Amino acid sequence: MNRQQNILVVEDEEAIRTGLIDVLVYHGYKVDFASNGPDGLKKAQSGKFDLILLDIMLPGMDGYAICNAVRDKDRYQPIIMLTAKTSDDEIIEGLKLGADDYVGKPFSVQQLMLRIEAVLRRSAAGQEQARTLVLGQVTVDTENLCGRNGLQEELSFTRREIDILSYLAANSSRPVSREELLSKVWGYGRNLDIETRTVDIHIAKLRRKIETDPREPSKLVTVRGAGYRLITGE
Ligand code: CA
Repeated sequence: MNRQQNILVVEDEEAIRTGLIDVLVYHGYKVDFASNGPDGLKKAQSGKFDLILLDIMLPGMDGYAICNAVRDKDRYQPIIMLTAKTSDDEIIEGLKLGADDYVGKPFSVQQLMLRIEAVLRRSAAGQEQARTLVLGQVTVDTENLCGRNGLQEELSFTRREIDILSYLAANSSRPVSREELLSKVWGYGRNLDIETRTVDIHIAKLRRKIETDPREPSKLVTVRGAGYRLITGE
């Protein structure tokens, strides 16, 4: 990873906070900090940190509440809880709220750095997985609008085509009607009769890209009278 990763330290004890910042900067991370709950929450919710190191006992608002609030907005935000509390119940509480890991104080620097690296690695893998659609032997990179078919040929997609695939993938347990696609992907309102052909044209183009035989679709299938369904997975 070439980009310098950005870590937020939320810790009210100055000695610990300063020590953490020094260690993180020394290891090549970019660091910002907050020394109380409300400031911590504000920064934690900004979405600009690759990882948040979050103390539990904080003035104004505790780390559990911050973790909870951040998770409500972004369930993928990596968080490691830092605390002097080490009883099992409290650890479970932290992990239940969605912290990725838990480090008890006092911690060894080496231990902490290993945990940080592990969480960042899992998070990068998770993000890559989240943006890759697998449709049999076809893979689609929804961020870079490209993919590969079963013959290892390169595919490219328009933003609209990716939006259609992503919406169908998110609802892959059921068929999605053309009206729903028009409303959710195109953002059109009512009186869609004339526009449903637009959907069919896009579906036909997508099938030429992802299907082995576009006339006999096995991935982007038509469910008679109900709409289209995407068959995801390997
Ligand atoms: Ca504290």
